[in-house]
Amino acid sequence: MTTSSALDALNFDNSFVRELPADAVAANQRRQVRGACFSRVQPSAVSAPKLIGWSSEVAALLGIDREQVGDEALAQIFAGNRLAGPMEPYAACYGGHQFGNWAGQLGDGRAITLGEVVNADAQRWEMQLKGAGPTPYSRTADGRAVLRSSVREFLCSEAMFHLGVPTTRALSLVLTGDLVVRDMFYDGHPAPEPGAIVCRVAPSFLRFGSFEIFASRGELDVLRTLADYTISHHFAELGPPGPAAYVAWFDEVCRRTAVMVAHWMRVGFVHGVMNTDNMSVLGLTIDYGPYGWLEDFNPGWTPNTTDASHRRYRFGNQPQIAHWNLAQLGNALYDLVGEVEPLQAALATYVTTYEQQWREMIAAKLGLLALQADDQPLVDELMDVLQLVETDMTIFYRKLAELDVDAAEQLDDRQLLEPLLEAYYAPDELAAHMPRVAGWLRRYAARLKADGRTKASRLAAMNAVNPKYVPRNYLAQLAIDASEKGDHGVLSELHEVLKRPYDEQPSKEHLAGKRPDWARSRPGCSMLSCSS
Ligand code: AMP
Ligand code: MG
Repeated sequence: MTTSSALDALNFDNSFVRELPADAVAANQRRQVRGACFSRVQPSAVSAPKLIGWSSEVAALLGIDREQVGDEALAQIFAGNRLAGPMEPYAACYGGHQFGNWAGQLGDGRAITLGEVVNADAQRWEMQLKGAGPTPYSRTADGRAVLRSSVREFLCSEAMFHLGVPTTRALSLVLTGDLVVRDMFYDGHPAPEPGAIVCRVAPSFLRFGSFEIFASRGELDVLRTLADYTISHHFAELGPPGPAAYVAWFDEVCRRTAVMVAHWMRVGFVHGVMNTDNMSVLGLTIDYGPYGWLEDFNPGWTPNTTDASHRRYRFGNQPQIAHWNLAQLGNALYDLVGEVEPLQAALATYVTTYEQQWREMIAAKLGLLALQADDQPLVDELMDVLQLVETDMTIFYRKLAELDVDAAEQLDDRQLLEPLLEAYYAPDELAAHMPRVAGWLRRYAARLKADGRTKASRLAAMNAVNPKYVPRNYLAQLAIDASEKGDHGVLSELHEVLKRPYDEQPSKEHLAGKRPDWARSRPGCSMLSCSS
C-alpha cells in the first residue's frame, strides 16, 4: 500500500483509535475479538477503481477539493488502494439483536474507517469505506459490496439528508473493477456482479450494538470507556461522564431516535433491517440495505424479502421496533447506571417524544397550524381513506396542497378529487370509494378554513414537508441498470434532482411519477434481500 499526500493537509484527529482499547491481535483473520472496540486493518486493494459518484456538499464538509486532488487520486483513495498519511484504518467491534434475537459479535465485516477529520467549523467527520475488503468481523462473507447496493446507499443517504431526515452521508461511489459473487435471493443462483465501494461520512458510526456487545460479555470497563468516549466527543453538552451523564445520554438517544423515526414516517421510508446493529446512537439513519420507499400507502409493507414472513420491520411497525431496540440499549447500559427507573423514564421519553413529533408531523403534512384534540377522527379517517385503494403516498400529500378549499362545498365528488387523481394506481377501483374520499376532503377543507390561513401560505408550508421527489425504488433500479451497463448519467441526474426534493423542477416531472407497472414485481423495485 502506497501513501498519498493528496489529503494529508486535512485536519485528521483519530480519536477512536487513540482513546479506545485496540484489539491486541494484529492478524486480519475472522475471529471473536475480546476486550477491544476495534481492530486495525488495511483495506484490500482493488484492480481498477473508477469514481462514478461524488457529493460535493460532503466534500465541502470535509474540506476536500475535487479539482485539486483529481478524480484519479480520489478513486484510488476512496477505493482503499491508497491512504493519506494521517489515516489509521480500523474495523469496529459491535454486536446486535437481529430480528429480535441476540446475535453475538457482528462488527464491521466490510466497513473500514479511514480516520476522522475535524473541519474548520470544529465538526468531526468519520470517513468509512463500505466494501473495502475483509476484516476480523467478516465471518463467512467476503468484505465486499456490489454496485447495486452501493448505488442505493449513495443515492438514498444523500436524498435523506436533503429531505431533512437525520442520516449518515455519502461522499463517493467508486467502481472497483472487480466482480463480486452474490446469490441475490438466496435461491441457489449465485452470479458475478460489479463491485463498488461507498465512502460514507458521519460524526460517528457507533451503534446500539457497539454497547450491547460489551455488556453481553461482561466487559464493563470497555463499556464504560466507550460510553465516556461517546459522551465526551459527541454529547459534551451533557457534562462530564458518570452515572447522571449516562442517563442523560440515553435519554437523548431516545429523543433523537423518536425524531428520526417520525421523519421516516413523514417521507415514507422503510429501513428494512432495524436490527440493533443498524441503529445509530447519534439518532442518524444508518446502514442502507434492503430499504424501500412506500409507494402505495400500506403500513404493512416491507421491501425486505428476508423479513417477508413476519414483516417485523414493516413501515407501520417502525416506531414500536425503535422502542424495542432502545430497550436493548437501556439493558446494556444498566450496569453503568445501577438503577432501572431512570432508564425506564428515558424509554417513556421516547414514547412521548414520538407521539408529539407524530402529531406535529401530521399537522404539517396536512397544512394545519396545529393538531387539535378533536382532530383525531379526521386523521384516523385519512389513514383509512389512504388504504381504500392503492394510493401513492408521496403524490397524494403533494397534491393535497392544491385542494380548492373555498369551493369544496360547491364541487361534486369528481371535481373535488381532480387534483388527487394522479395519486391513484387504479382509478377504476376508486369509483366505488369516491363518496367516502370526497367526504373526507370536505371535512378536511372545513377544518382548514377554521385555521384561516391563506392558500399561498398553506401551499408553501405543505410543500416544505411533503416532498415531490423521493428516491423511489424503481428510480434507484433504473440508475443501477444504467450504471451496470457503464452509463452513470441516470445516477447523477437522480443525485442532482434529489438535492431539491421539495422544489418543483419542471424538466424533471418524469422522476416524480407513480411507480410504473413493470416495476410492480421486479426484483430491486419491490423486493430486496440482505444479500448485497
Ligand atoms: P447488515 O445486515 O448489513 O447490517 O450486516 C450485518 C453484519 O454482517 C455486519 O456485521 C456486517 O458487517 C456483516 N456483513 C454484511 N455483508 C457482509 C459482507 N459482504 N462481508 C462481510 N461482512 C458482511
Ligand atoms: Mg449493518
